[in-house]
Amino acid sequence: MRLADRTAFITGGGRGIGRAVAQAFAREGARVFVVARTASEVESVAGEVRAECGEGAAAHAACDVSDPRSVEEAFAAARAFLGAGPDVLVNNAGVADSSKFTETSDEFWRRHLDINLTGTFYCMRAALPPMVERGWGRVVNVASVAGKTGAPYVAAYTASKHGVLGLTRSVASELARTGVTVNAVCPGYVDTDMTARAVENIQAKTGRSAVEALEAIKRMSPQQRLVTPEEVAALALLLASHEGRGITGQAINVDGGTVLY
Ligand code: NAP
Repeated sequence: MRLADRTAFITGGGRGIGRAVAQAFAREGARVFVVARTASEVESVAGEVRAECGEGAAAHAACDVSDPRSVEEAFAAARAFLGAGPDVLVNNAGVADSSKFTETSDEFWRRHLDINLTGTFYCMRAALPPMVERGWGRVVNVASVAGKTGAPYVAAYTASKHGVLGLTRSVASELARTGVTVNAVCPGYVDTDMTARAVENIQAKTGRSAVEALEAIKRMSPQQRLVTPEEVAALALLLASHEGRGITGQAINVDGGTVLY
């Protein structure tokens, strides 16, 4: 049990990578608090975790990470359930839409920055003081290989994820002597609803079939496949564990070798 007696706050926990992280952490003994905007989805994930790992293993709240008051309320609810903490924060909530750069609206730009980057900031600001006080904590920011590279039609998403890496590195160095580590994981294309939407988008824009669009995405990886949510969760688990204590300020790819730095 690598997370025995630990507690975790997981954003974007209603499906995809966040759901896999909640399950992986709870299986290793953590009590998890999952949040996202869609209450029914986080309620369902918390129920799945309780059914597998026990009645006290999970709770949930609706939370929009781009709204600072919503974040404060969710952390208050998490502390009431978890008793203190959390020991581990996984900033996984995110959105990814595409737009020609010259057609990118203020709303589109702000939505990506507000959720992906500022939401990560709000949650770190709420979670870190008790971690520093206790002298133990883990922050895992789910960024993307888009945090390291550039690609057409995803400037807002890419800028937000580059920002997450800057935030991660800076706070990691600031807290290096406190017992708190701060890292990012950088997935390539993962088999989730987000990638399903990318497939639909390619279909709509290019007239390709769903199979052709998915194959084009898979071919971007040298392994010619999508990463699974469980692979991302396994990396997050390592970073959250005692064994990961020497790893901080890093941005680790799980992308089948697409990006080699
Ligand atoms: P997903 O299936 O679309 O899930 C995204 C999760 O984030 C959902 O639970 C969603 O719930 C939540 N969320 C979105 N906006 C939110 C907000 N304002 N406040 C709180 N929760 C919010 O996507 P995924 O593939 O699991 O992606 C998870 C993370 O991995 C994202 O940060 C994404 O950028 C990153 N990532 C994904 C891929 C990929 O290929 N899928 C690749 C690299 C990185 P609600 O909509 O109900 O709020």
